Amino acid sequence: MTTPAGLVIPAPEAPSLPVRGTADRFPVHRIYCVGRNYAAHAVEMGHDPDREAPFFFLKSPTTLLTDGRDLPYPPATRDLHHEVELVVALGRGGADIAPEAALGHVWGYAVGLDMTRRDLQAEAKKAGRPWEVGKTFENSAPCGELVPAAGIGHPDRGAIRLKVNGEPRQEGALEQMIWKVPEVIACLSTLFELRAGDLIMTGTPAGVGAVVRGDRLHAHVEGVGDLELAVI
Ligand code: MN
Repeated sequence: MTTPAGLVIPAPEAPSLPVRGTADRFPVHRIYCVGRNYAAHAVEMGHDPDREAPFFFLKSPTTLLTDGRDLPYPPATRDLHHEVELVVALGRGGADIAPEAALGHVWGYAVGLDMTRRDLQAEAKKAGRPWEVGKTFENSAPCGELVPAAGIGHPDRGAIRLKVNGEPRQEGALEQMIWKVPEVIACLSTLFELRAGDLIMTGTPAGVGAVVRGDRLHAHVEGVGDLELAVI
């Protein structure tokens, strides 16, 4: 039996983000993530922030958790960490994008969480293995509503923070990014052919830590918005 479109199995649902204040959706192609992009977080993870070029990993778009859903505690970990991040959404792709032209490729911004099974990531690092088991698992990319850059501009200053049960855990500022958004886009575009629909999670400030079932997370990026969810 085949579907009307001739597919041999039903097509998987295409991941997308809600656009704030509308019924519109932003279709998601890939999710790129920047590692250690805030100096204080690089230090807390045991690295020298001055010596490292930006590095990247990916999360599957199918890991997005959107539309106000709560986060089911994932399997195989006893150390699920929060990482609050500014999410950049590209409306135009390209390769070898110049830093000066990079913001012209941005469609909008959102508040996201790069949820991490830190114990599995640490084991992978130690063994020189890939990070996927620590980084890209079901619901590991909670993301809030997307806000068009046409409405808010390109935020490069202001608070980025995460509270757990009302207690401050992560406190930083966008201006603390080691590699700024235009540089991240330019650098990524030398490695990958970027496409409209790509998201970039731009790294997390210091203060990452574990959450448990029952915790309430409140992520905030000044000028962009909020993302609230419970761990269930
Ligand atoms: Mn991260």
